[in-house]
Amino acid sequence: MDETQIKNFKQQLLQLRSELMSLSSTSDDAAKAVELDQSAVGRLSRMDAMRAQSMAIEAKVRREHQILSIEGALRRIAADDFGFCLTCGEEINIRRLEVDPSYSLCIKCADK
Ligand SMILES: [Zn+2]
Repeated sequence: MDETQIKNFKQQLLQLRSELMSLSSTSDDAAKAVELDQSAVGRLSRMDAMRAQSMAIEAKVRREHQILSIEGALRRIAADDFGFCLTCGEEINIRRLEVDPSYSLCIKCADK
């Protein structure tokens, strides 16, 4: 992998992270406790509101995991260690990184 490719991946990772972060702050409200005031729920039943809340929390957890793996990839870029499998040390196929530059395992190790 050459420097330009790494720079592009870094760019991608930074953009993805800022998108995820802005999503996080806008959806925090949805993940907050279901309002006790039934009028605030409107036509949604309480069950629906609770289901929506748990989905919002799941999505938030997923986003936080994504942000962590993006930060891991950015750290690997900074340490000049980007693109190598964390388990076996082999180069990760660039096509795999093009799908998601935050991947930290090669396809063989990810398959295990
Ligand atoms: Zn591997």
